[in-house]
Amino acid sequence: MRPDLVALPPYRPGRAAVPGATAHKLSSNELPYGPLPSVERALVDLLGSVNRYPDFAATALVARLAAKHGVDPASVVLGAGSVEVVSQLVRALAGPGDEVVFAWRSFEAYPLLVSGAGATPVAVPLAPGWRHDLDAMAASITPRTRLVLVCTPNNPTGGVVAHDGLVAFLDRVPGDVVVLVDEAYVEFVTDPDAARGADLFAAHPNVVVARTFSKAYGLAGLRVGYALAPGALARAMRPLAVPFGVTALAQAAAVASLDAEAELAARIAPVLAERARVVDALRGAGYEVADTQANFVWLPLGDRADAVAEQLAADGVLVRPFAGAGVRVSVGTREAGDALLMSLDRSAGGVPRGRVVTAGNDE
Ligand SMILES: *Cc1c(COP(=O)(O)O)cnc(C)c1O
Repeated sequence: MRPDLVALPPYRPGRAAVPGATAHKLSSNELPYGPLPSVERALVDLLGSVNRYPDFAATALVARLAAKHGVDPASVVLGAGSVEVVSQLVRALAGPGDEVVFAWRSFEAYPLLVSGAGATPVAVPLAPGWRHDLDAMAASITPRTRLVLVCTPNNPTGGVVAHDGLVAFLDRVPGDVVVLVDEAYVEFVTDPDAARGADLFAAHPNVVVARTFSKAYGLAGLRVGYALAPGALARAMRPLAVPFGVTALAQAAAVASLDAEAELAARIAPVLAERARVVDALRGAGYEVADTQANFVWLPLGDRADAVAEQLAADGVLVRPFAGAGVRVSVGTREAGDALLMSLDRSAGGVPRGRVVTAGNDE
């Protein structure tokens, strides 16, 4: 075995519900709704032909994504989830002796993907307010740096990078260093000043954008995501994909979802309303809550993170703790939000006990 792999910690997925138990799964930033009827039909139509390999080039989906973003189809790279696209990108650019810069805390897959490629992760601490410290990230670029990963909104802390700030950052990044804008949660962003990855992709030859159907599109179980990448880089990434990794079902569901953008947008609105309600209620109860533009909230509970997550789990609310740092709670249904707020209000172990948050009766 490669000795550097022996020491790698495993990826820790969000906690799954115990079969049979009722639980609100707020641990993986999934949408709380099942597939749209049109998406379900597209899936059912394909069930009889799963003996066939999928379209290797995913022609229909690539064409739809190219049209959606106004880019050349040669710039669209698909993966089995956008995490696989990020994996392709990291390995296309970085190997032993190379460095990949990213904020920390950020998406847990980053250090694993970088180390898995044999490259060196360079984790730059977030600034106060759980923001990317773009100055410190720019200063950490060395001649060995091949790639910078910018997650906006940032998982698990929820804040965005400002568009202007990212433009200024790009002006400081050498042209031969690629900057990935990971926009897994971009559909939940309402801040008009937030970074717009597709605009940056159009204006900067060293920008790559990653998007996914797992979060706002509600297709996490199918595994499909994509990158917009300059043609030459896209060509270098594709051979690193798992062959046929994006299944025919995933391709068809993604196309059907792109046909139903308006219906999907209508399902995001209640998530945004619930996000605002949960943030207000938590702050009203005395919790520190990071500003969020994603479908989750970050509670910087420090050493209490694991204990609070356990208490919530006992009450049937599954969240994602990060030991010693905080708890990430996905925004789900109003019912799930009520269960969360009531459980926190009941336990309040060492947390200032605030007013009682009552369960709403609408929706
Ligand atoms: C969820 C997530 C992804 C992508 O997940 P896939 O299911 O692999 O598409 C990418 N980046 C971040 C930051 C995420 O949170």
